[in-house]
Amino acid sequence: MAANILVVEDEPAIQELLAFNLQQAGHHVLSAGSAEQAHFLLREALPDLILLDWMLPGVSGIEFARRLKSESFSKSIPIIMLTARGEEQDKIAGFETGADDYITKPFSPRELMARIKAVLRRRAPQMTGEAVEIGGLRLDPSSHRVSGHNPKGAQEGASAKLIELGPTEFRLLHYLMTHPERVHSRGQLLDQVWGSQVFVEDRTVDVHIRRLRRALEETGLDGLIQTVRGSGYRFSEKG
Ligand code: CA
Repeated sequence: MAANILVVEDEPAIQELLAFNLQQAGHHVLSAGSAEQAHFLLREALPDLILLDWMLPGVSGIEFARRLKSESFSKSIPIIMLTARGEEQDKIAGFETGADDYITKPFSPRELMARIKAVLRRRAPQMTGEAVEIGGLRLDPSSHRVSGHNPKGAQEGASAKLIELGPTEFRLLHYLMTHPERVHSRGQLLDQVWGSQVFVEDRTVDVHIRRLRRALEETGLDGLIQTVRGSGYRFSEKG
């Protein structure tokens, strides 16, 4: 279960220790020393999880968590707050901002990895290979199958139709379904679905979105893939 993890921590020693332990566990790590720097990195690519220190210079961890949870592009990224021992009030406030978990410093690498795993399992099922089902569409990564039926048109008990997808459309749909209700720019989709190593143009995304919609048309579920003018694409059950 390798995840892209953004570490936001201003103390270099702790930042390095976190990065080292996360890399040992097979994760990809990006580090930032402040909320401002983290925000800059987030515009490039969205991580699967953020480890966010409470005490940061400038914009505090708590304020940054609040901002991330209020913006559509970032609100579904799980956040684990790092707090100092005994800051019970902070923990309560942390949960109120929408942080998914917290961990008290100093912590053992084993404890940290367990927390990360638990949060990812809960919040990012694409990391665990579990099937996802939204709005009548079902995608199962283990069998590589996609099926669907239009909940509005289909009669009760009607069997789902298998949907044939190419490998890129499959990955694209998987990514969109596991990150629903938020807008993804073409650049973000390229990073997350194609990988940053590959050079492809933004309009490649449009081509694959078009193919994906066409494949979903038969089941009447193509409307789940929405175009957000000037911004990108969104997977949403809400018309
Ligand atoms: Ca700090």
